[in-house]
Amino acid sequence: MPKIPAICRTCGLMFPSGLAYMGPGMIVSRSFSGCPRCRSDAPILSGYTTLISGLVAFIISDEIEFSEKQRMIDAATSISSGKVRPAEAIASIDGDGAKVLREWTSLGISFASLLVAVASLLLAYSTSGGNQPLDSIAMEKFDETLATIQQPDSRIAPAYSQRPVAMGSKVKPQLKQGQAPTTSAKPPNENRKARRARMKKERTNKGK
Ligand SMILES: [Zn+2]
Repeated sequence: MPKIPAICRTCGLMFPSGLAYMGPGMIVSRSFSGCPRCRSDAPILSGYTTLISGLVAFIISDEIEFSEKQRMIDAATSISSGKVRPAEAIASIDGDGAKVLREWTSLGISFASLLVAVASLLLAYSTSGGNQPLDSIAMEKFDETLATIQQPDSRIAPAYSQRPVAMGSKVKPQLKQGQAPTTSAKPPNENRKARRARMKKERTNKGK
């Protein structure tokens, strides 16, 4: 059962909240889930199901050309990689694509990059003629990607930042004078990596 995501306003972490998605029309309001990284109360996304339905509607719409859908996904990719500013990218496309993109970026750059992954998959799936309901595929894919995606670093990325976040950038450990790099200086992303591996393992153990 997919979980509704929460975004921590303190450290920027996105994670599956304790709340399971119960079906279309489910309304979440003013609910919080404890952030596994910094222990703050993180708001559970209230418009999540609407957001997913909006995405699915956009992808399957007959009135929107394939090229337009692809253009929106490309623009979202450029935003999440930090190549362009959200406002510029939104201005470069029009119609429903711009509306969708505006919704995504209002939730933060990292969140937008997560949706890009989901949108690309949905577009490929719908063109290939698959007949599973896209809503449930979107939820599952979102859930899956959330567990593996590069998360903003609590020390550099404030929540809801519109500033491009360098994905996958490696921060060098800061060493004091005379300190050998091999002693206590652990790479800062080691914990994150370990956590990701663990979550992946847990997911597999749950049994598919
Ligand atoms: Zn946090």
